[in-house]
Amino acid sequence: MQSSTIRDLFLDYFRSKEHLIMPSFPLIPQNDPTLLLIGAGMAPLKPYFTGEKKPPHPRVVTCQKCVRTPDIERVGYTGRHATFFEMLGNFSFGDYFKEEAIAWAWDLVLNGFRLPVERLWVSIYQDDDEAFKIWNENIGVPADRIKRMGKEDNFWEIGLGPCGPCSEIYYDLGEAAGCGSPDCAVGCDCDRYLEIWNLVFTQFSREASGELVELKQKNIDTGAGLERVAMALQGVHSLYDTDQVRPLYDHFTSLADPARRDQQVPLRVVTEHSRGTTFLIADGVIPSNEGRGYVLRRLLRRAVRFGRLLGIEGDFMTEAATLVIDQMGSAYPNLKERHDYIRQVVSLEEQKFQETLAQGTEILEGYLEKMEKEGEKVLPGNLAFKLYDTFGFPLDLTAEILQEKGFSVDREAFSANLKEQQERARAAARTSTGKDLNEHYKAAEALETVFTGHESLEQDAELILTLAGGQAVSEINKGEEAELFLDQSPFYAEAGGQVGDTGLIETEDAVFKVINTVFTPSGQIVHQGQVTEGQFKTGNRVQARVDRIRRRGICRSHTSTHLLHRALRRNFGDHINQAGSLVAPDRLRFDFNHFTALTSEQLRAVEEEVNLMALDNVQVTARLTTLEKAKEAGATALFADKYEEGSVRMVSAGDYTRELCGGTHVAATGEIGLFKIVAEEGIGSGLRRIEAVVGLGAYRQAIKNDQLLKTIAIAMNSDLLRLEDKVTEYLAEHKMLQKLNQELKQKNAAVEVKSLLANVKEVDGAKLLSAAVAADSLESLRLVMDEVKSGIGSVAVVLGAVSNGKVILVSSVTADLIDRGIRADGLIKEVARKVGGGGGGKADLAQAGGTNPAALPEALAAVEELVRNQLQTKS
Ligand code: ATP
Ligand code: MG
Repeated sequence: MQSSTIRDLFLDYFRSKEHLIMPSFPLIPQNDPTLLLIGAGMAPLKPYFTGEKKPPHPRVVTCQKCVRTPDIERVGYTGRHATFFEMLGNFSFGDYFKEEAIAWAWDLVLNGFRLPVERLWVSIYQDDDEAFKIWNENIGVPADRIKRMGKEDNFWEIGLGPCGPCSEIYYDLGEAAGCGSPDCAVGCDCDRYLEIWNLVFTQFSREASGELVELKQKNIDTGAGLERVAMALQGVHSLYDTDQVRPLYDHFTSLADPARRDQQVPLRVVTEHSRGTTFLIADGVIPSNEGRGYVLRRLLRRAVRFGRLLGIEGDFMTEAATLVIDQMGSAYPNLKERHDYIRQVVSLEEQKFQETLAQGTEILEGYLEKMEKEGEKVLPGNLAFKLYDTFGFPLDLTAEILQEKGFSVDREAFSANLKEQQERARAAARTSTGKDLNEHYKAAEALETVFTGHESLEQDAELILTLAGGQAVSEINKGEEAELFLDQSPFYAEAGGQVGDTGLIETEDAVFKVINTVFTPSGQIVHQGQVTEGQFKTGNRVQARVDRIRRRGICRSHTSTHLLHRALRRNFGDHINQAGSLVAPDRLRFDFNHFTALTSEQLRAVEEEVNLMALDNVQVTARLTTLEKAKEAGATALFADKYEEGSVRMVSAGDYTRELCGGTHVAATGEIGLFKIVAEEGIGSGLRRIEAVVGLGAYRQAIKNDQLLKTIAIAMNSDLLRLEDKVTEYLAEHKMLQKLNQELKQKNAAVEVKSLLANVKEVDGAKLLSAAVAADSLESLRLVMDEVKSGIGSVAVVLGAVSNGKVILVSSVTADLIDRGIRADGLIKEVARKVGGGGGGKADLAQAGGTNPAALPEALAAVEELVRNQLQTKS
């Protein structure tokens, strides 16, 4: 039976039992910050189990795509574990229970899939007599085919809350699939007794006391691996031999070096990981160094490495993605829709890693050579760390390559290096006072400082703590720097990318200028600045006033980042997430994950979209709500895990965007004025940065550009209207003049050569020319010299010129005169010495420089004597 038939049969069977078929949920958990990836059919249905949400129907059936990272190390080594697989499952939310779940599973296995009963086994939780009775009495499974298993295997629970016993169905693949041990039986770690289906009976709640309490609403959650059912039905011993996976395995086998085609483990790894990577990318995961992006990166890189072991070269994972899509595209149409995109992401990451591999391998080979010479067997940890830290070369890869050549790596020293680096980074994050921030703000730890700046920019308050140099003081005076704490404050403390407010804190006769506002590690608002007038005493009543103009500029930027986020997602897809931002007065920076640079057309489209949303002048509102409700309303949560239930702030700009955000915003988008992107750049792998100006910032940018154009126009003796034509004309003219200049130079050289030839002397029958000429570089000097030589045939030449206040010299001697003892390097050395310089070359050609132009005529005049000497020495 084909995999697609198995899938349909399962869904149809449970539809006939009044289940609602729901499509597979995406691999990225939609509303669950606690979960990295969906690893079971029940995971996306969790809110229905906990009662948090009402299910659309009390009975549901799905075929859910899953990625299980914890199984990554087993991939390749067993035939039944994949990181990516499909899980078939039927679910009951407080509806039917154990009896039906068991009866239907058995019915489907025997009468739907028609698996032979003599190969089937079941397991139950050791204390679950109810399940035993159902299997044994209702169904008729003999007692010796029902294995009781311990808590470890057959009791499902995570922490407190709903939990319960499981019952599994096993299929005996036959002796040939097993480990051969005489103890091999259900529960053995080999592939023979294959767990195909797990039925979880959620009937208890684990209380904090440790007690198990019977639940009123009992649930059923089952999971059957599609690939495993296919193994049983297709009579094969590994999932790599099933219909959906085999073509991939064969493809990689054909790519592998013929001598390595029997290497099962690496072949399985590349096969398996190509499926996982393709599905992850299709669902919006992008390679990165953390979270699910790292899972993807790890799978891809692992595949590339194992591919290398098989001798497979080139962008093989990119090609494999297409095969996976061909194979799985009809069941998962989003693969087909995103075909090109998927290939692009795989290809970029694959190429980058290939480069890393090539570079790292080369360096590692250098180390190896040295180790061989010195008789060392272990690569020092600091070198392995350097490879990792500077070149991104993974440690296990270093170890693998070393191992192949009979070497090893000092892993302990590597870890020590890594730890040291992390500590250095941590130390660098401390304050300039050298103290840890926690320690610096210890005195403020228990204070309550309430932020009132969403409603108003002015606030009456009490000065409750004054810190000078990290010490609590009772008063501060004019000129002193300090940090002030107020019981309530309208000042926004730097957070979520938004810069801190500035402004004034005043009493009737004292002024404190706030230059920045930040949070302490324990969450108090700190006003940093200086007393500019009078004296403050802790306990004073004060007036706190935020700099309004600056704050309004910040609000414009902040709302703009939300609109920009929205426009990017609309243009490029929901994989785009904010990775960081700077929200400053009328200026912003927005970092996000995306795999390539944006073209200027794309940037313009995004920019225009933001401006349209601004011009639409929709209201911007903020309201407190629950995380659950905010997500229902479609809000984007940036740092989901930081939000506490019951207290999130949702900022909406009309219907354009909803984001969870604590920042300050304009009242309506029209206040933004103009939004203008000024830069887009890459800031690390898979990360892009957009910089933009808004409001006054955009206006000033426009003025600046305008001014620049005017200045250029004046310089070009033009007006703005004709500027472009004028520049084009000017460039054409410039080119023409350059050409003309070149021609003139050549003509000049010819004239010069003619007059030079008249100066040729004879010394003992050898022709000699030494002269100063007009030339601006060694190159043009040599040109002149070549002309001279070709005009005479047998000659010794020394030419000098003055360029930029310095002397340049060239010399050349023809072969017949070299035979007579004249050498260019000998001549030039002497001449250069006389003009305060040096140089050299060979007998036929030499060049030099000097610093004393005044001495040049005399130095050249002396050449005749030099030549005479050289000739005499020879004879
Ligand atoms: P195993 O003990 O074989 O690792 P499991 O107990 O972890 O399985 P469950 O968590 O109960 O499995 O998942 C339900 C079903 O999903 C299993 O019965 C099996 O058919 C399938 N399954 C689980 N893990 C994998 C995997 N890594 N690859 C393929 N199928 C799997
Ligand atoms: Mg498992």
